[in-house]
Amino acid sequence: MTVRTRPALDSLPAYAPGRNVPGAIKLASNELSFPTLPSVAAAIAEAVGQDASGINRYPDNGAAALVARLAVHTGAPTENIIAGCGSVALCQQLVQATAGEGDEVVFGWRSFEAYPIVTQITGARAVRVPVTSGHRLDLAALSAAVTSATRLIFVCTPNNPTGTAVRRAELVEFLDTIPQDVLVVIDEAYREFDTGAESPDGLDFALSRPNVVSLRTLSKAYGLAGLRVGYAVGDPRVITALGKVAIPFALNTLAQAAALAALAARGELAPRWQQVISERSRVTAALAEHGYQVPPSQANFVWLPLRERAADFAAHCEAHQVIVRAFADASGGVRMTIGSPPENDVFLQAAESFAL
Ligand code: PMP
Repeated sequence: MTVRTRPALDSLPAYAPGRNVPGAIKLASNELSFPTLPSVAAAIAEAVGQDASGINRYPDNGAAALVARLAVHTGAPTENIIAGCGSVALCQQLVQATAGEGDEVVFGWRSFEAYPIVTQITGARAVRVPVTSGHRLDLAALSAAVTSATRLIFVCTPNNPTGTAVRRAELVEFLDTIPQDVLVVIDEAYREFDTGAESPDGLDFALSRPNVVSLRTLSKAYGLAGLRVGYAVGDPRVITALGKVAIPFALNTLAQAAALAALAARGELAPRWQQVISERSRVTAALAEHGYQVPPSQANFVWLPLRERAADFAAHCEAHQVIVRAFADASGGVRMTIGSPPENDVFLQAAESFAL
């Protein structure tokens, strides 16, 4: 006899993390390539050394200090905010709180790889709505995919992995079509890199519409991917539900301390974001010059819709000591994270020498 696991797990897509290859440049996980700020490292060291609330103690389960800081950061009341162990944990909590067997969760495709996984874990059905030929979320089609079984819609903007952002006006139009009992999650993991004049600020919606949540992370722009801190802003009823399905103490003491320090260091981080944004323009222009199709990215990565050539391209990059993320299927392509200027140069040399 073998242990019985739930049948829902049999068809679960596996999450494939960006690979770390010793000696190679990793441009596969949308991290920032800058070192940790000294003030953040000092805050972590201090948290380790604390007597009364050191790491021999459990963390503050409600992350009260961090939530209070996030309230200042976002302008949202504390009861509208919950912090979690990375925004991916909050994605799972959002689905767990709203959907189960027989329900549906709708999202664009391609979009963040974890959406189908966290959906299917609960027994709900993942409804993938193809992006447009311009690699943008098709908000009209997402709206049309809503049925009486729909409980949640993920709107990822800028969209991972295609990089495109939705426009504020089209988002308003879309939200107006969605039933009030369906939760819309605006996943803004990359918002600090979004320079689009027409791009929305999810907080405007999360604080004015009870069925909208804005989801954010400190993994990308704030450089804390290894510590796992994300947060959601929304109606207090939704926030309370997210707290109910959270794993106790999932947001650890060092992560909470580092997040406080990183938020305080926004002024030091902003020039890093500017560098990423200007490198994104440079990389996009250079790729276009070499004949690549590159959808306009508002994130810290670019998307090359190479379809069946994706795996070859990624292998070619790896031979040049650069690891990118290949999605090797019919709707596939390659996602390249914008790194430091020298890292991007190594990638561009690889891209130049690939026979398109
Ligand atoms: N949302 C999107 C769109 C992402 O791309 C990612 C990370 N790849 C996440 C959420 C999760 O990030 P984290 O759990 O590190 O906060």
